[in-house]
Amino acid sequence: MERFLYVHEIFPSFQGEGLLVGVPQVFIRLSGCNLRCSYCDTPEAWERVQACSVYGWRGEWEAVGNPLRAGMAAGIISSLWERGMHSVSLTGGEPLLQAEALTHLLQALEGKGMPIYLETNGTLGEELELVLPWIDWIAMDIKLPSSQGGEDISGRHGDFLARASGTKVILKVVITAGTGAEELERTCSILGGLGGGMPLVLQPVTPRRGEEGVAADRMAELYRIASGFFDDVRVIPQSHRAWGVR
Ligand code: SF4
Repeated sequence: MERFLYVHEIFPSFQGEGLLVGVPQVFIRLSGCNLRCSYCDTPEAWERVQACSVYGWRGEWEAVGNPLRAGMAAGIISSLWERGMHSVSLTGGEPLLQAEALTHLLQALEGKGMPIYLETNGTLGEELELVLPWIDWIAMDIKLPSSQGGEDISGRHGDFLARASGTKVILKVVITAGTGAEELERTCSILGGLGGGMPLVLQPVTPRRGEEGVAADRMAELYRIASGFFDDVRVIPQSHRAWGVR
């Protein structure tokens, strides 16, 4: 069994996206991703790196060579964990690419009072089943065709959500200037019936240098469309980018 993890960074911060924005967490950002979203804000996590960067609250930093034994990663997470924290965020890249090794990490964290929050692109359903017994929250991105070079992956999202039933799921879709009303409507019509009241967050993209943002009236139009399929729809931008923290 694979007990080693390729990790980009481990750090404490506040959740910057979605329904739980603002809760303190320890983040472990795993390396590797099976998608190449047009708006990706963590392309540095697409590839494995020689060393994992471990940060403290004041930005103090040390490098730990990759791959990390799962028990060592659990030890680093535990050293950064403080009373009152909400959960450990498994993020990436796409953490489920290392699902088997993650089971060892999750076993090592079991019983320590650290709920597990999985951030995922919602495409690896079989891998989800490996880790699901330890997962308390799933924050799943919905990827629209305009972010995937025109490919429609709503079928993979549907399969993923079917396997996630019984776990708390928060859905999020990043809205860019290129997001189409038709693709949002089609995807919401497929996924809206699956989730038994799952909340959906519409996240206006954080514009990078020279990029076009999303106007309020456009968000209102897309909100109306999504609300036709989901009971609980919110518009929440990234807070950590606005604040300028990790
Ligand atoms: S799934 Fe996430 S990490 Fe992967 S390319 Fe898309 S936005 Fe980036």
